[in-house]
Amino acid sequence: MADMNELSLRDVFAARRRIHGVALRTPLVESPALSRRLGAKLFVKLECAQRTGAFKVRGATNRIMSFSPEQRQAGVITFSTGNHGKAVAYVSGRLGIKAVVCVSEHVPSYRVERIRELGAEVLVKGDSQDEAEREYYRVVEERGLQPVVPFDDPYVIAGQGTIGLEMIEDEPELETVLVQLSGGGLGAGVALALKEIYPSIRLIGVSIERSPALLESIKAGRPVEVEERDTLADSLLGGIGAENAHTLRMVSRYFDEHIVVDESEIELGMSYMLREHSLVVEGAGAAAIGALLHRDWNDLGDKIGVIASGSAVDLPLYLETMSRLQGRDRDG
Ligand SMILES: *Cc1c(COP(=O)(O)O)cnc(C)c1O
Repeated sequence: MADMNELSLRDVFAARRRIHGVALRTPLVESPALSRRLGAKLFVKLECAQRTGAFKVRGATNRIMSFSPEQRQAGVITFSTGNHGKAVAYVSGRLGIKAVVCVSEHVPSYRVERIRELGAEVLVKGDSQDEAEREYYRVVEERGLQPVVPFDDPYVIAGQGTIGLEMIEDEPELETVLVQLSGGGLGAGVALALKEIYPSIRLIGVSIERSPALLESIKAGRPVEVEERDTLADSLLGGIGAENAHTLRMVSRYFDEHIVVDESEIELGMSYMLREHSLVVEGAGAAAIGALLHRDWNDLGDKIGVIASGSAVDLPLYLETMSRLQGRDRDG
């Protein structure tokens, strides 16, 4: 990477080479029911079928594979709301290196358990993502581990960007792509790949009403913190970091517009993916699909892409929500 501040398409291709054999090349499938509704072809990238159940394994692999053998031997550390921690634990396990994951008390226990099962040491500390992050900085210093941050890192961004490459290889005529935003690693990477290859592709950022930190930061022109509330899209919780160096700038530059979705749209998207595709998609992965279902759209072009970014659900809550919605569908 020549200049760490200016990522290029070459970095995305380099990432693809590094992650080959660790991350899967997931399918891009058409969704006929939504295509009919939209009067356009809607394609869903199935990162819910990715190893560890979310796309995060791409960025984590690219980051860890870029460390020197000595750095890798020291072990790696991260903080995470779940899927990134899982990905780091998985990749480290495959490479036979040590991994430490710092999480806040708000991270659901089923996620903490999954990370432990993958062989990582989990440190639970603090009331918020930011506090977990402070603990992480303390442990980085104390133990000399290599940091693998969840989104604001050029290697992580380039790794997530491989999703964009695969999408336009499979459907070169995509006209509009909707990407959900949290820290912005996914958005920045996918946007880099798509816009540098086809600048005319329209990119719509999807933020959640209950944690729109990146969107508020874009509006303010600097990182801002927002109050977080519980959401079905819990993988989209969290701030963008006060020292954000990459994702805010890249997402501001590449995205053409933004929408904000509420909880009813998120559960609608989850229910749709279960009913139409027999797939479990978590709230973060279904937010864009919910917005496509719920709103009136008429200008998205003939081919539209979305990313079903993960499958990690709190099973009791998921089953309860799905039976309520599917029951309503049957009755209505
Ligand atoms: C992390 C994550 C996102 C958001 O990615 P960012 O890079 O933080 O914007 C979306 N969906 C799922 C399932 C995730 O795990």
